[in-house]
Amino acid sequence: MNFWIIVGIIIVSIIVVRKNLAELTKRKQKKLEKICTKIDHDWDGCKCFRCGKVRDEQHDWEGCICNRCGKDRHDWGDCECKRCGKVHDWIGCKCIRCGQEHHDWGEGGAHYHDVAGGHGGCTIYYYCNKCGAMKSEDTM
Ligand SMILES: [Zn+2]
Ligand SMILES: [Zn+2]
Ligand SMILES: [Zn+2]
Ligand SMILES: [Zn+2]
Ligand SMILES: [Zn+2]
Repeated sequence: MNFWIIVGIIIVSIIVVRKNLAELTKRKQKKLEKICTKIDHDWDGCKCFRCGKVRDEQHDWEGCICNRCGKDRHDWGDCECKRCGKVHDWIGCKCIRCGQEHHDWGEGGAHYHDVAGGHGGCTIYYYCNKCGAMKSEDTM
């Protein structure tokens, strides 16, 4: 048999096996959920052992974060949690509550000499190591 035909058959069978596996885990998950609706979930705190469903009860709090499902219970007052003392709710470099930003500005990158503009110094560009935001500073 031609070498490439064999390779082709192998690739196709890998794809088929993968598809079946995905289908199988999906079916398994459905089966578990069915058991759960029939005989109720097997709760381990806030999470079901069997199907992985999460309920808003009996969380396993460590500070303000649930160890099992990751839910938080911060009690925000002016961007400081009254319960655990956490300050700001950062998503990336920005606080989703007050909009404050805390970038990790790296070393000054490109220098741009401002000859024509007339402030007589140069502009230095900084980039955030985390999100890639940019700021510039004029030096005299
Ligand atoms: Zn369940
Ligand atoms: Zn939880
Ligand atoms: Zn908190
Ligand atoms: Zn904030
Ligand atoms: Zn940033």
